Amino acid sequence: QFHMIKHEDLTWGESLGQGSFTHIFRGHKTDQRDEVTHTTEVLLKVLDANHKNCWESFFEAASLMSQISHKHLLLVYGISVHKSKNIMVQEFVKHGALDLYLKKSMSVSVSWKLDVAKQLACALNFLEEKNIAHGNICAKNLLLAREGDPSSDNSPFIKLSDPGTSMTLLGKDVVLDRIPWVAPEVLDTLEIELECDKWSFGTTLWEIFNNGEAPLQGLDLIQKQQFYEHFSNLPALEWTELADLIAQCMQYQPELRPSCRSIIRQVNSLITSDYEILHATGTLPK
Ligand code: ATP
Ligand code: MG
Repeated sequence: QFHMIKHEDLTWGESLGQGSFTHIFRGHKTDQRDEVTHTTEVLLKVLDANHKNCWESFFEAASLMSQISHKHLLLVYGISVHKSKNIMVQEFVKHGALDLYLKKSMSVSVSWKLDVAKQLACALNFLEEKNIAHGNICAKNLLLAREGDPSSDNSPFIKLSDPGTSMTLLGKDVVLDRIPWVAPEVLDTLEIELECDKWSFGTTLWEIFNNGEAPLQGLDLIQKQQFYEHFSNLPALEWTELADLIAQCMQYQPELRPSCRSIIRQVNSLITSDYEILHATGTLPK
């Protein structure tokens, strides 16, 4: 079910850091088509040697992404196995992770952020229709393919990355560290349902509208766990309609979270001009 890529067709470039049990590199993949050599820029995700036992789950994530196709889902080209090295070969996305982008950008307009929110809602709706739970939605896993122009009508374009190794295998500490992105019920069950992605969508909206700031930053794992035990909520954003949508998504009872349809309707009804008036005058127009 995988497309296998020969190791000798890959060239390795600079390291881009580490993820959950992974090392990430930039690189190229070459293939011969019609006697012509084609070179594609790729991202190489290598599973850590000391977590080799996770290879099945790691490749399952690759397989999931190669079986479904949507404009806002990252393209996975295939996998490559070399000696004891397990590699996921995926599309290289030019502007990298959204959280980093938001942190380094001086000013990103509300309509730019709303576009990103709409695109993520669209990807989420697609996954819901296919009955696929992703399980690792966060601003870090939204990659920016087109920067757009935060100050004009030129929209950004995002792609949702693969979910990576399943949380059952990542271990308790990684799961606790994913608070407040991971839905609270996952801590007990370690099972990912469609509703879990709605919670993570809410957290991701919060991140986007707080310019990539990580929610609950500075809390240790025990404090993070207590945050859920006390049924706490993230600080509400001042834009009431947006804060309300986030609160609906981040309800502790999974069955109370809105459908993707409802999420899309609400995101579409958030009108930038209202936000701008709120900022200028402190009140919203009636
Ligand atoms: P996780 O499963 O927790 O998401 P991961 O293995 O996917 O872990 P990340 O931490 O998500 O690793 O990614 C590390 C960094 O690599 C990101 O911050 C981003 O800058 C970069 N990156 C990841 N995927 C891509 C991609 N497809 N194109 C360009 N850059 C990427
Ligand atoms: Mg990732």
